[in-house]
Amino acid sequence: MNKTVRLYQQDVDMRSNDAAVVALITDRAEMEALGIKDKAVQCLCVLDQSVFFPEGGGQPSDRGTIDGYAVCHVREKDNVVYHQIDLAATRAAGLEEPASHFTPGRIVHCEIDWDRRFDNMQRHCGEHILSGMFFREYGGINRGFHMGDDYMTIDISLEEKPEFTELTMDMALHVERCANEAIWKNLPVTTYRFETKADAEHFPVRKKLAIERDISIVCVGDPKNPADSVACCGTHPKFAGQVGLIKIWKVEANKGMFRVYCEAGQRALADYDAKHEILTKLNNKYSANTHDLLEKMKIAEEKMSAVRTELYNLKQSVIRQRSAVIESDLKLLSAVEATAKGRGETAPEGLSGRYLNGILLYEFNDMKVDDLLTIGRPILDDIKKLVLILDGQTNTVLLFSDGTVDCGKIVKENASIYNGKGGGNKNNARALFSKREYAETFIDLIEKHLR
Ligand SMILES: [Zn+2]
Repeated sequence: MNKTVRLYQQDVDMRSNDAAVVALITDRAEMEALGIKDKAVQCLCVLDQSVFFPEGGGQPSDRGTIDGYAVCHVREKDNVVYHQIDLAATRAAGLEEPASHFTPGRIVHCEIDWDRRFDNMQRHCGEHILSGMFFREYGGINRGFHMGDDYMTIDISLEEKPEFTELTMDMALHVERCANEAIWKNLPVTTYRFETKADAEHFPVRKKLAIERDISIVCVGDPKNPADSVACCGTHPKFAGQVGLIKIWKVEANKGMFRVYCEAGQRALADYDAKHEILTKLNNKYSANTHDLLEKMKIAEEKMSAVRTELYNLKQSVIRQRSAVIESDLKLLSAVEATAKGRGETAPEGLSGRYLNGILLYEFNDMKVDDLLTIGRPILDDIKKLVLILDGQTNTVLLFSDGTVDCGKIVKENASIYNGKGGGNKNNARALFSKREYAETFIDLIEKHLR
């Protein structure tokens, strides 16, 4: 097949064009010959010329439409550009089958999704300028680049200049400043094309040329002292000013290199907007202005810490009081026991807890279960039979005993009857239920069991 004329190489700002259909490929064997294994790719359109940029150089492919047919991906092989038609979108739009429409020779109209392309160009060119500046300032080599949905990363290796052993955030911010200065100067971004490697070799570049023919070198600024100069097949705005803004967020050591997290163009601005919105919410919450926000947050944290200490002390005091109340009930019970014949069904007078045939039951609905556990633990030795604490908030029943009654065994044998969960040991166990009525029935069962 003849090579596709790539119109974006002639004018990167071109958004649409008319072209003649060369072929429509729907045959799986043909796709596989092109190295396409993905079964989702079912229909590829080849044109004599195209404004669509196929993926390459770390830049994603364009999307758009050809005669209203959605183009979801574009690739290139041996200088031929293949436009992938989105069949699901074609059918949803009620268009005729691509095979009937894209007949060889037919003139069709292409339009790219310009917002997406411009976004890609801003990010891609932002990466160029940053990489160029890392190279110029510190001899840093871009060894890996990723254009993610949420941020870009560049992996910088400091192998060229051993005097730099690490890339600090301060160094990165210096590079960020240099990169933004290139933008403010609105340096021209020029693509120099060379037929062979020998022709291109005189041109200063930050990375060795890896291909032999059809070499494009992209240079930001004057080739004698460029903000960047490197071989690249991507699309770039004509001037650095169109990149708008470059922001580095963080740098971290990664596999002997340094990973730089960054963003460029409208995405850097969108990030500023998002962070500013968060900052505004925080300012409102703390009645602060940005300059005194941290100070006000610190004051609030100190207050919170004091409240936590106070709460802890109060809780401990309540826990001690509740333990004392139960202990007093237990003493009363044991005194009654010494004078009467065993424990009866009637509650002895003066008890604070509920009396269930020798068992004492308390309900507390104002503490976490772990705190309630600390009420019973100090008085375990005084509990000759069983003390129960019901947490009405979570329908949890806590069991305490000196071991005369095996709490863990009671839970194990009875809780599951009411879909309860839990466990424990001889002295202390817990059972959690989905409904209060189940917890109450469980308590009734224990009472009957121990009567
Ligand atoms: Zn590029």
